[in-house]
Amino acid sequence: MKTKVITASAGLTRLQMLRYPFSVEARELSQRQARDVETLVSLLETSRNEYVVEEAENRVIAALDQSEILTVNNNDDRDFLIYPTSRLIVEKIGDSRLKEYQAEAESKAVNGHLENEKDDIVLHLCKSAFSWQVESTGKPVQRASLPLWLRTFDFRMRFEDFLEIAPEFHQSPWKLVNRYLDAGWLPVQGLELKRLMSGKFKQLILMSSLEVRTLPARITEAVQRVESELRGKIKTTQPVKITESIVTAFPPCIRQMHEDSIRGKNLPHEARFALAAFLLKIGMSQQEVLGVFKSSPDFVSSLAEYQVRHISSKSGGEGYTPPGCRKLQGNGLCPVYQGLEYDPLCEYVKHPLGFYKTRAWEIMKGIENHSWYASKRKKQQSF
Ligand code: SF4
Repeated sequence: MKTKVITASAGLTRLQMLRYPFSVEARELSQRQARDVETLVSLLETSRNEYVVEEAENRVIAALDQSEILTVNNNDDRDFLIYPTSRLIVEKIGDSRLKEYQAEAESKAVNGHLENEKDDIVLHLCKSAFSWQVESTGKPVQRASLPLWLRTFDFRMRFEDFLEIAPEFHQSPWKLVNRYLDAGWLPVQGLELKRLMSGKFKQLILMSSLEVRTLPARITEAVQRVESELRGKIKTTQPVKITESIVTAFPPCIRQMHEDSIRGKNLPHEARFALAAFLLKIGMSQQEVLGVFKSSPDFVSSLAEYQVRHISSKSGGEGYTPPGCRKLQGNGLCPVYQGLEYDPLCEYVKHPLGFYKTRAWEIMKGIENHSWYASKRKKQQSF
């Protein structure tokens, strides 16, 4: 038996509501059927709602496989329960890597849908779902009086809203200092705004948590199947075994990036480059370096291969030199500079490779007392 079908609300079509589960309309529709987690769980217990569990499981597996998240539209309002059920499955499993995969895939799907969306829908979603202050800058003809370079911006938004998400992106156009600002308003391109919206959705998933107690058998089985897929995935993407002494000789900056990468966190572009160039320079093969990045939720094999090959083939095979301390500090990638960690050797080097060479030598010689730095070396920086 199908439940009452709702076709459209507040300007969004039914398909749009399904594509944007963060929208007020989609949330209202799912909450009308299941006002809280307990009600959702009891709904999922009944055999007539089996398809919701099945589709939710498919949705999580698609995220795990990094394949496309499909919008299920059976013209049945229970379709709106599929997304919350998929979140329920992920929260029950409680694996941060799986949650990252889900957040990444859901956000990518939203970004893809937004690309074809008209401005009024984009504005509606920004305002109603995220409470962002965003305005259209008008039709191209209305922008004719603006300076030439400002005419290409389709929207303007409050800088406070921009700053909710932009710091997550590490390329220079996302830094507020590189943007034009007028009385707190900041011009943004349509594509940029859509990227911020999908980034916000990702942030909402990563920050939310659901209290999930006992689950009915039907959904427990789905959880078990996803857990088994996840274990298989982690096994096949296991990073290369870097020996313990090699890792111990890593400077704090590289150790942090390396740990984040194998834990499945997406690294910003600068960190990926620094880590790949460093690992290649200390003698790891291209395949071994790729293994370190395989756990990233946005890992795309062909692209990563191209990037690693490119980094290693610079200057007739010598490869790129990883950035020095000053550059890493400027990019927010030095935990010592940020006061999060400390290692006395950092004061005597200007480059992570210099750190690695000295520390690897100390490990080989069994030297644990670092007081010799002060008598034999000159300080290069202080923290
Ligand atoms: S001081 Fe240099 S080597 Fe040490 S953690 Fe910072 S960037 Fe890395």
